[in-house]
Amino acid sequence: MPEGDTIWHTAAVLRETLAGRTLTRCDIRVPRYATVDLTGQVVDEVISRGKHLFIRVGPASIHTHLKMDGSWQVFPVDKPSRAGHRIRIILEAGDVRAAGVDLGVLEVLERDHDMDAVAHLGPDLLGDDWDPRAAANNLIADPDRPLAEALLDQRVMAGVGNVYCNELCFVTGYLPTAPAGAIKDPLRMVQRARDMLWLNRSRWNRSTTGDTRRGRDLWVYGRAGQACRRCGTIIESDSSGERVSFWCPVCQT
Ligand SMILES: [Zn+2]
Repeated sequence: MPEGDTIWHTAAVLRETLAGRTLTRCDIRVPRYATVDLTGQVVDEVISRGKHLFIRVGPASIHTHLKMDGSWQVFPVDKPSRAGHRIRIILEAGDVRAAGVDLGVLEVLERDHDMDAVAHLGPDLLGDDWDPRAAANNLIADPDRPLAEALLDQRVMAGVGNVYCNELCFVTGYLPTAPAGAIKDPLRMVQRARDMLWLNRSRWNRSTTGDTRRGRDLWVYGRAGQACRRCGTIIESDSSGERVSFWCPVCQT
């Protein structure tokens, strides 16, 4: 599942591939933007903000959000992609091709106003302007709100998705349903969030346990019915809400 670290890494890969290069092909397969052609324009920057990604090309800024299943894939132009009809956009620069697949959001914005699309976001966990105090204040601003809901609210801080949400609740010892107002040290919690994303920003195999081996990489997420790594109690889960939650009934209160 793409979270802030995935977007940060994706932006880094796209930057390395496209920045400073002239587009030799621009194929946008979304009716609204089908006539937009940025061929001949230079890619200036690739920016990530929370879970949003911007590719600035000439006067335009291509804004994408991966949502649940999206990805950007980079490969040589002579290698066919297996994504086929799921490709929403193709950008080529000489011998390299970047393809946006199953994107949740794809829009072409005016470059000068592209940041309006993310003006509602709280402090970006992986941003240069990360502000832990503001994020901590946002986290407990509504004390009755369930912690998981507050952590996932991108207006509180930008970058946490459902995997990190569940993992953060575990490492800080709170149930996902605990009221945000019960958090004793919200500053420490947002700093843990930052640390988790920061450690994972340059790799695809995400780990919160410090062990990147498959099956050992996460504390509770996706581990319903398995033993808690800390106390051995069976991990519980609840999928009745909008998102599935996982927790240890002993380690978390
Ligand atoms: Zn436990």
